[in-house]
Amino acid sequence: MTDRKIYYFDNNATTRVAPEVVDAMVPLLRDHWGNPSSAYRFGSQVARQIEEARAQVAALLNADPKELVFTSCGTESNNAVLQSALATQPGKRHLITTAVEHSAIIKHCEVLRAQGVEVTLLPVDADGMLDLHLLDQSIRPDTAIVSVMWANNETGLLFPIEEIAAICRSRNVPFHTDATQVPGKLKIDVKALGVDFLTLSAHKLHAPKGIGLLFVKRRAKFQPYIIGGHQERGKRGGTENAASIVAFGRAAELAAAHLEEENTRVRALRDRLESTILRTIPNTIRTGPKEPRLPNTSNIAFEFVEAEGILMALDHLGICVSSGSACTTGSLNPSHVLTAMGLKPARAKGCVRFSLGIYNTEDEVDYVLSHLPRVIARLREASPHHAPKSRESKPPADVSSHL
Ligand code: PLP
Repeated sequence: MTDRKIYYFDNNATTRVAPEVVDAMVPLLRDHWGNPSSAYRFGSQVARQIEEARAQVAALLNADPKELVFTSCGTESNNAVLQSALATQPGKRHLITTAVEHSAIIKHCEVLRAQGVEVTLLPVDADGMLDLHLLDQSIRPDTAIVSVMWANNETGLLFPIEEIAAICRSRNVPFHTDATQVPGKLKIDVKALGVDFLTLSAHKLHAPKGIGLLFVKRRAKFQPYIIGGHQERGKRGGTENAASIVAFGRAAELAAAHLEEENTRVRALRDRLESTILRTIPNTIRTGPKEPRLPNTSNIAFEFVEAEGILMALDHLGICVSSGSACTTGSLNPSHVLTAMGLKPARAKGCVRFSLGIYNTEDEVDYVLSHLPRVIARLREASPHHAPKSRESKPPADVSSHL
């Protein structure tokens, strides 16, 4: 890797580790490397730092520190909560989730299905929204858990988690939300939300990869997924990733402090980027509605061109963005999220996600806007699907809800 400047617009994939977070974790790697379970002070001082970090993360969620279980990642937290729901309620073999969840839920459900668990995947409409009446109707006496993400990682769309939690409570079914994309962007108050379980992943909030969290509400039934030592009050075995937990704690403090900036400066940058693209580049359409949405995310369909080509061209310019497509055996498949929203494959294959963060600047947005029109025009010229000149006019201002 050269030292060339990177224009990073992929903060939903991962985030830069904040310098303050690096400073917080280095002493644990360099000096305080004892085992937190050891009886002597060289170990117990690490245990104390873990508990301080637990309190910092708990403050971000308005949770009791005892309700927090540190895991290895968001994927583990999501896996653990579904497994636990089935294990602690042996007579219940039905799960409800949505067709647009992260693969950490969807793929796990496929495995559970093969093991005889019934899974209801709730559909979404063209805006990516759920029908809460259908959710309510789908709950059965043998439903072990309902799991619905808070913010979609591809479109940024927000689901009404408080309302869903209320439905589940009224039906006496545990409720889990995957809130991985939320910290630092929306206020999180687990008490006000009324959720039983909630997933976070530290690398989405400027901490390192490989450390996650599962909030387990007091008195909620929970059985550990990783079985071993007594760590995490018996809820997750394995010697604690102390340096990363301390990093997570510091990042949680920063996330709370950045809430306002994400919702003002970052939102304004995202809006300028999005509206300028939609206004100046023909045949571009926002995927999903404008609101309710994360303040940092914009998913845009570039018609008559494939996202992979855009990504490669932007990569040459040092610009990092994501597509909503996954490459399998050389062919591009539109993501399950865009497919569930009913996007035609040709449009879904041209979707690009821009996800901003607190380190993005006006100049970086200008840089993207100065190159993108030419990149798209060049790719369209070379594309067999290229629109005839007569179609190179702008569609109506907002057609997202008619996709
Ligand atoms: N859930 C959502 C919504 C995500 O966006 C991600 C990561 O992209 C995950 C879960 C998985 O988190 P991790 O990478 O920590 O396993």
